[in-house]
Amino acid sequence: MTGEWGDLITNDRGLRDRPSIAAIGERRTVHPPPAPPSGMVRNDRDAAIVALIDRDIERAANTYTRAAHATVAGLENEGENRDLLGADARWAGHALSYLLLSAACYRVGGAPDRGTARCQEGIALAGDLRDAVLTDPFDRACCVEFVADFEAVGGLDSADTGGGADGGEDAAPGGSEGGEGNGNGNASGDDYDRAIAAYEAVSNGSTDPMSWATSPMAEAARRGSQQIARNTPHAFAWDDLHGSNPDSIAYLTHRSRCKRSQLPLSIEHATDEGYVHPPRGTTEHNNATWRCPNCGHSEVNRIAGEVICLDCSVRMERA
Ligand SMILES: [Zn+2]
Repeated sequence: MTGEWGDLITNDRGLRDRPSIAAIGERRTVHPPPAPPSGMVRNDRDAAIVALIDRDIERAANTYTRAAHATVAGLENEGENRDLLGADARWAGHALSYLLLSAACYRVGGAPDRGTARCQEGIALAGDLRDAVLTDPFDRACCVEFVADFEAVGGLDSADTGGGADGGEDAAPGGSEGGEGNGNGNASGDDYDRAIAAYEAVSNGSTDPMSWATSPMAEAARRGSQQIARNTPHAFAWDDLHGSNPDSIAYLTHRSRCKRSQLPLSIEHATDEGYVHPPRGTTEHNNATWRCPNCGHSEVNRIAGEVICLDCSVRMERA
C-alpha cells in the first residue's frame, strides 16, 4: 500500500476496486493517478469482468450496476465524456447492456429479486430513451428489443413489468401500427414480436440494415446478450443473430427471433452452472506460452488486462 496507484486499486479485501471515500479522505494530497500499467483495471466494466474471473458473481453483479450508472453519467466506458441523455444518446445502449449483465449475474448468483430490480430499471431507462431522447427510428426500435431482453433475462412476464404494454405501442414513429405485436398476451415472446414489428414499421428501404447493425445501439444490444449466452450450448454468433441477407430488414428482425430462441435457455443454463462467462476479447489459438490449469488447452482470451482460458475463463498459467 505504498504506491500512489497501488493505494487506488487495492482495498482492504485485496480486491481491485475504487478506493473508499474514507480512504480518499485520509490522503493528505490527492493527485491524479498516473496512467495504469497495461493490464490494470481502469473502470467498473473491467472490474466486473475481473470479478467474473474471480468467480465472485455477486461482486460482478454489483460492479456491472456501477458500470451502468457511471456510463449513463458520462464518467466511464462508452459514456465517458459523452451526454448519454442528450446528443450522444446512441451510446446509452451500453448502459442498458451493463444493466442486463448485472441482472443476469444477480439471477445466476441466487439473488433473483435483485435481478428483477435491474431488469425493471433497464426497462424504465429503455422506455425513456425511446420516448424522450433518441431520434433515430431504428435506435428507438432497438429499445423495444432491449425490453424483451430484460424480460427474457429476468424471466419476467410483460404483465409484471409493464414492458409489453409500454415497450412496444409507441415504438414505431410516425403513428404506424408497428408496435401492436401479436396481441396474444404471452410473456417475453410477445415483446420480441413487438420489436420485430417496430423494425419493420420503420423500414422504408432508405436505410442500410448492415450500417445500423454496426451502430452503437445495435452493438450494445448484441454484446450483453451474447456474453450471457457465451460458452453455453445456446451461444450465438453474429451470423446467427442477423441471418444472411444484410440488404433486407430481416437482418434486423432476425435479432429478435434468434434471441427469443437462445436467450431464455442461455440464462437458464448459466443459472444451473452458477456462472456467467466474461466476454470474448482478443483471442489466440494454440499459444504455447500459456496453458489452462483446468482443461490443459492453450486457447487464450485476453480481456480486462487478464489472460484467461477461452473455454473455461480460468486464469492461464505460463507453460
Ligand atoms: Zn480451460
